[in-house]
Order: sequence, then structure tokens, then C-alpha cells
Amino acid sequence: MSWQNGLRAKILFDEPLSKHTTLRVGPKAGLWIEPYDVQALRNVLRKAQTNKKGYLVIGFGSKLLIKKKKIPLAIHLGSANFTRCIARGTDIIAGAGVALPKLIRTAYEHNLGGLEFLSGIPATVAGAVMLNAGVSWPKRIELGSFVSWLKVMDKNGKVKTLGRKDLRFGYRSSNLKDYIILGVKFRLGKRKKMFIKSRMQKFRNYRLKTQGSGSRSAGCIFKNPDAESSGRLIDLCGLKGRRIGDALISRKHANFIVNQGDASPNDILALMRLTQEEVKKRFKVKLEPEIEVI
Ligand SMILES: Cc1cc2nc3c(=O)[nH]c(=O)nc-3n(C[C@H](O)[C@H](O)[C@H](O)COP(=O)(O)OP(=O)(O)OC[C@H]3O[C@@H](n4cnc5c(N)ncnc54)[C@H](O)[C@@H]3O)c2cc1C
Repeated sequence: MSWQNGLRAKILFDEPLSKHTTLRVGPKAGLWIEPYDVQALRNVLRKAQTNKKGYLVIGFGSKLLIKKKKIPLAIHLGSANFTRCIARGTDIIAGAGVALPKLIRTAYEHNLGGLEFLSGIPATVAGAVMLNAGVSWPKRIELGSFVSWLKVMDKNGKVKTLGRKDLRFGYRSSNLKDYIILGVKFRLGKRKKMFIKSRMQKFRNYRLKTQGSGSRSAGCIFKNPDAESSGRLIDLCGLKGRRIGDALISRKHANFIVNQGDASPNDILALMRLTQEEVKKRFKVKLEPEIEVI
């Protein structure tokens, strides 16, 4: 009998991860598990530990480039218990698997402002908090600053609540790597619906103008170096439109790589290396990947 028998979870075998990453690239996951509740997730972690099975937690896969040949176990918190989003006063409590558009819509419906900058980012609440998603236009603003607490599970299945004093957020980073995020409470501010709507529109328009649809990409590939824009440096190197296999440096936004069809992880990695070399040669700047390579 297999170890996953009897788990309260949706279970898929040999699931192509290209279906679960926005770059549409990835190997198969031997097991794709969506636990129905916290106890089922705990059971998955315990069984994975006993069986010495490594695992990868995936949100919407919008920051992932998986180059491994196989992922034994992928965990996704997409079931009803992890996708609830409730407003209470000026707070929103959201499950890990809530999609950002749902989070923003709930905030709007309850006259809560602050999260409009997330408009157009294809991510889950957990992925966005883990990586402290943000924008640098018109000024730097990041999701971490709205978090008042988090519910997490540690690798042994213990559930904890982390408050502000436990949390550290940096540029596209957090100190949460050792945890599975279960849910998040955001503290927002009361705003008029009209104001929230116009800000959502402003961010969406800016994104469309500078990035296009962003489909089959993973957002920005490289972090911005201090007080500089990676996209600007890559553009100045004349790399827009450069292609390796089916991986292409976007003609709209030089810091985006787009999968034009059947790009392999190696195509994308080779294009990233070429970009790093050119930028280093011309500007003596080392570009650090923002995308997570696994
Ligand atoms: C078109 C486009 C535009 C984008 N624009 C922006 C932008 O403006 N700003 C920005 O910051 N990012 C942007 N991104 C990148 C991306 O959407 C964010 O980095 C987002 O935070 C990733 O969320 P996700 O749910 O897809 O996480 P994933 O990519 O699935 O995972 C990211 C990391 O979080 C971990 N993780 C996911 N869920 C959990 C969990 N429940 N518990 C513990 N760990 C977990 C994963 O293991 C992984 O380490 C963009 C991407 C695209 C495709």
C-alpha cells in the first residue's frame, strides 16, 4: 500500500509542473498533493519525512524555474480551506492559496486600500508574502509592510503564529523559508472605493504599458542593483529580442524572459548567463537572479 493512501487530499501522479508555472516549463512531480486541511498537510509532511522524500511547495509558480529532472513531491495549498479571504474591520485574513486578484477584490469590496500595487501580479498570498512581492514604481512598496501576523507550519507539522517582531522582510525575500505559510493577516486602511479603483487601474495600465501581458514569463528575472534598473542595463546592452531556443528576452521589458513555445530550463538559464556576462562586461555590474532556480 502506498504511503499516500487515505490522505485527505487531492492527489495526482506524474503531474507536469509546466502546467503549474507561469513560464510553462518544468519536469513532472511524482506526486502532486493538495491537502484538504491543516491535519492533512501535517500528515503529508510527516509521511514525507519518514519516507525521506523532499518536497516543493508551489503557489502559482510565477517565480519558479525548475531545472531538476524530477520533483518527487509538490504540495499546493489550493483547496477550499486554504483559499478563504475574510475582511474584519481594517484587516483581511487570507489563506495561503488565495489568488492576489481575490485578495485585492475583497479589499476593494470592503473599502480597504493599500494593496492596489499588487494588481496584475499572478501569485498566491503565500508566494507573494514569502518573496515580499512589490513594485518600485512610482515608489518602492512591498507586501511585507502590510502583514500583521502569519500562521505557519514548521517541518515537523507544528502550527505557529508569527507576529511582527518575528518577521523580517527584505528585497524580494523574507525569513520564512523554513516554514509552510498557512494564512496571513493584513492590516489595511479605510479608503473610498473610487480611490482604490483608480489606483488599481493606474498600476494595471503601467504594467500593461511596460510589460505587456507578461504571459509565459516569471516577472523580473534579475533583481535591480542599488539605485539602478536591471531592465535598463539589459536594454542598453541591446539584448531585447535576443533568443536562445524558444527563450526570448522580451522586446517590451528587457528584464522579462518569455517562453515562446517549448523553451527548456537550459535555454532560459543560458539566456540568463548571456545577459549577466554582457551586463558585467559593459557596466561592471553583477546581476543577481530574482527568479528562484530549483
Ligand atoms: C507577469 C508577471 C508579473 C510579475 N510582477 C511582479 C511584481 O511586480 N512584483 C513582484 O514582486 N513579483 C512579480 N512577479 C513575480 C511573482 O508573481 C511573485 O514573485 C510572487 O510572489 C510569486 O508567487 P507564487 O504564488 O507564484 O509563488 P511560487 O512562484 O509558486 O513560489 C515562490 C516561492 O514561494 C514558496 N511558496 C509558495 N507557497 C508557499 C507556502 N504556502 N508556504 C511556503 N512557501 C511557499 C515556493 O516554495 C517558492 O520558494 C510577476 C510575475 C509575473 C509572471
